[in-house]
Amino acid sequence: CGIVGYIGDQQASKIIIEGLKRLEYRGYDSAGIAVLNGKLEVKKGKGKVSNLEKMVTSAQNGQIGIGHTRWATHGEPNDINSHPHTSQNGKMALVHNGIIENYGTLKKKLTDQGYEFYSQTDTEVVAKLIESFLVKDNRSLKKAVQHALHQVEGTYGIAIVHSDYPDQIVVARKGSPLLIGVGEGEMLIASDASAVAAYTDKVVYLDDGELAVITKEGYTVESANQIELTKEVHELALSL
Ligand code: GLU
Repeated sequence: CGIVGYIGDQQASKIIIEGLKRLEYRGYDSAGIAVLNGKLEVKKGKGKVSNLEKMVTSAQNGQIGIGHTRWATHGEPNDINSHPHTSQNGKMALVHNGIIENYGTLKKKLTDQGYEFYSQTDTEVVAKLIESFLVKDNRSLKKAVQHALHQVEGTYGIAIVHSDYPDQIVVARKGSPLLIGVGEGEMLIASDASAVAAYTDKVVYLDDGELAVITKEGYTVESANQIELTKEVHELALSL
């Protein structure tokens, strides 16, 4: 339902929780966050963003992270089905808006390869699918995500962090909105501009099929056929 992410010099969890609160009006059943702080730390659960806020202790001082409010489509609203979902090795976390239509087929393939599934969501297969490409071919995170998304049918806005790639957030969209909030020495990502407007009035809207790698200094956007794109930067009319 809602996605927010941050990379920069500030405490990521604070900005992400703030952004998730801005998206609460859209409705949701669960909320969660993943922050990189040397290692990956995930907090999530059924219920309000204010509950999530209580779970996020000051120990979670990382400066890069992603958050999600879930509106369940596959798997009941509970703590385990909440996003972020993680890779088997616990290094990568992913949040997802949308529906993965072929998750059943992919889940079977991955189970045969030895991957274990903890949730009933369609989303978890994307996390394990990306992991399978990372492990197999030792690709970059971006390449592994691109490869995985070629096998995915359905709709997605996704955001990914990985503790072996602590200086980047990878995002992609198809049929579900995603934008980059462009700051100075910091970047945000979100499914809706209202989540970033308190921090920047410059946004780049991803189009369907596009993938972006976000660092605190900048971003690169590629089309589905991996051509690097120059994207228009829009000015938000009002600060909220
Ligand atoms: N299909 C995913 C789920 O059920 C994502 C739902 C959403 O967009 O919040 O977990």
